[in-house]
Amino acid sequence: MVQTRSVTMDAGKVRQRNLSAVLELVHRQRGVTRSELTRALGLNRSTIGDLVSVLAAHGWVQEHDDAPRAGVGRPSPRVLPREARVVAAINPELDVIDVALVSLGGALLARRRVPASVPSVDETLSATTATVRELLAEHPEAELLGAGVAVPGLVRSEDGQVRLAPHLDWHEEPLAARLAAALGVPVAAANDAHLGCRAELSFGAGSGVRSLVYLNGGPSGIGGGIVIDGRPVGGAAGYAGEIGHLSVDASGPACACGAHGCLESLVSREALAAAVGIEHPDDDELEKALAAAIAREGAAPGPVAREVARQVRWLAVALRGVVNLLNPELVILGGHLAALWSVTTAAQRDAVLAQALPVSARDVRIEVAALGSQRLLIGAAELAWDALVEDPLAVGAH
Ligand SMILES: [Zn+2]
Repeated sequence: MVQTRSVTMDAGKVRQRNLSAVLELVHRQRGVTRSELTRALGLNRSTIGDLVSVLAAHGWVQEHDDAPRAGVGRPSPRVLPREARVVAAINPELDVIDVALVSLGGALLARRRVPASVPSVDETLSATTATVRELLAEHPEAELLGAGVAVPGLVRSEDGQVRLAPHLDWHEEPLAARLAAALGVPVAAANDAHLGCRAELSFGAGSGVRSLVYLNGGPSGIGGGIVIDGRPVGGAAGYAGEIGHLSVDASGPACACGAHGCLESLVSREALAAAVGIEHPDDDELEKALAAAIAREGAAPGPVAREVARQVRWLAVALRGVVNLLNPELVILGGHLAALWSVTTAAQRDAVLAQALPVSARDVRIEVAALGSQRLLIGAAELAWDALVEDPLAVGAH
């Protein structure tokens, strides 16, 4: 009897894993054919058909028969994510609390940027809860299943506890647990740059890349995400990737972390915005203003071109260390680092990895984030989808 029971349990686990694998592919690819599922998962057609039917019956996917004929045989029905299934994505920052509903398949259904001024945790919770309710009221078809928060700080991966968000002055805040109680759905939280990295890996510039490093330039400084062999690297407790606090100049200015000469104390959005004379620009405004100012300055570099050159030199010191240490195939720059990169000259770009070890530097590509200003929200949503996609039948089963 004991043996029978353990076999049954194993079969149940295998089925859960297969359902999860199918749902994850449908989500990541924003729709796949049954034959693509069969190929990708190495399961036979009838098993795939059964798994898809179960997911459809539980409201996760829907099938369309309009797939183009590929070669001979019957057209393979296309399995699409049901976009009414949504999670909330939240990114509190110094000047704004960014809130969105993100559909299965990773598309933003609705977004609202709530102005803020160094919001406290209480302010963030009340603004977030109210905004999520408003967005849901505007989208009555949406079914909220969970939420993810991208935090500009150090977050314990296990329970979403914010250990420290220095620029927001948050210390030891049980953010995920409190938001879960307010919203009535499971909530996960993680470092914003880790989530930006995750989003670019799933849907952006890092799609299909095995080893990459992501640098996120935000109002609160520079964060990072690392992917090695296809897996995000979190470290022992989830704090890895703090590239903004790499030491690039031991005698440099004081950093918010208490050390001196960290990358983010020398390469900052604030200094770029000050150079072009605008306050709190978003990334697109910053990029346009930098490009226009450099064009106005002409051939002889003026103050804006000199500031860009200064920041790129410090960025190069950090990237040299990162590339030597991790040997990535791709470096992705997001936020104000993308704006900075977009206005560099070819000579500046060529010089960035000139001092890195040639064996590692030779094949590294440096690109800007493909998901632009949506990257942190999509990453926060990915965090929420992780737990849901892992056990699809748990949703609505309670
Ligand atoms: Zn620092």
